[in-house]
Amino acid sequence: MTLSPVWHPFTQHALEPAMKRIARTEGAYLYDEQGHAILDAISSWWVITHGHRHPLIMAAIRNACETYDQIIFAEYTHEPAEELARGLVAIAPTGLDHVFYSDSGSTCVEVALKMALGFFHNSGAPRSRIAVMEHGYHGDTVGTMSAGERGVFNAAYEPMLFGVDRLPFPEPGHEQDTLDAFETFCRSGQVAALLIEPLVLGAGGMRMYPASLLTELKAVATRHGSLMIADEVMTGWGRTGSLFACEQANIRPDILCTSKGLTGGSLPLAATLCSAEIFDAHLSTDRSRTLFHSSSYTANPIACAAALANLAAWKTEPVMTRIRALEAKHRIRLERFRRDPRFGNVRQTGTIVALDVNVPASGYLSDAGPKLRAFFRERNLLIRPLGNVIYLMTPYCVTTDDLDRSYDAIDEAADIFVGDR
Ligand SMILES: *Cc1c(COP(=O)(O)O)cnc(C)c1O
Repeated sequence: MTLSPVWHPFTQHALEPAMKRIARTEGAYLYDEQGHAILDAISSWWVITHGHRHPLIMAAIRNACETYDQIIFAEYTHEPAEELARGLVAIAPTGLDHVFYSDSGSTCVEVALKMALGFFHNSGAPRSRIAVMEHGYHGDTVGTMSAGERGVFNAAYEPMLFGVDRLPFPEPGHEQDTLDAFETFCRSGQVAALLIEPLVLGAGGMRMYPASLLTELKAVATRHGSLMIADEVMTGWGRTGSLFACEQANIRPDILCTSKGLTGGSLPLAATLCSAEIFDAHLSTDRSRTLFHSSSYTANPIACAAALANLAAWKTEPVMTRIRALEAKHRIRLERFRRDPRFGNVRQTGTIVALDVNVPASGYLSDAGPKLRAFFRERNLLIRPLGNVIYLMTPYCVTTDDLDRSYDAIDEAADIFVGDR
């Protein structure tokens, strides 16, 4: 094959095997050019919720193409964006009344940060700090990298990153330390917002913490007049067992970010929802109080139509029933790993499951990750461990047989390292 000019994301081309070409997608599968069905056990980087090429969503995209392409979104608006905004406000936690569109998880978090800073700036009491949780991930733009965990991923860019207040991750039994740290940071009076992934920290290793902690963090924020930004880019759209993870903590964040599953994973789109207080702080005859943000493809009508079809699927199909069934199947199949000494920290939140393979050297750059990935790839399973953390986050249409196959492969995979221990 001739050398491709494509530079792939998070890919060390000097070490990677040749990229596998995908010819077609359907349901829980990617089909390669030879016709092999590859189980997409990580939902193509967590975006595909119902399944690939959901019929309602595909039809909505085809229809939208008959009438729209991109339309400038300042001075002009369109029905798909209007209807979607009303739909999102109706299903999001109450009190999130305004919707700002963008086109990726990173950008909707950047917008959230600007909303938070803008809120305090426009209120005449500027605040300069953002609090985040250790091991958090919020995207790969400079602002979201600043808020995320620092490591080998962003070492080269460190000189450009701004400082944030980091709360220790609430390891079991140490939840109070997280709350105390937040309380201490808040006492400075400078914390504009706590930016947090509710219930599950995704790219940071599928680390899970209880909803009660999120409830308590919100209480601390409220007490100090700090905002809470819920980064639901991964956790939204049923992944954690509720439509949004925040529901389980019974909280109303001040700002909520959604992207990946918003269009069922079919097209790029993102939305930042915020409270009336935040919108109102920007509402003024003084132009300097404007929320100065836009991306060219803001509220792309075809993407909005795909998202509307996703909302329709949630209303007309038993999506929550599928999620409950999937949760239950995972729970049963995870059980045998809990007593297996080759694994540790077996965990589940809704449809997301993860377990650590006990290897001599853990961490993202340990060669456990690539070895495991190759092992699964040979078996036509798309499973990409985060270092030694194996996780599954399948589309909701996955079959019981395919789950069995995945768990059997995970069971076998741990033996790769037997000689190393
Ligand atoms: C994936 C992710 C992002 C970034 O989304 P992109 O669309 O890749 O920019 C932000 N936050 C969380 C929690 C994510 O999982």
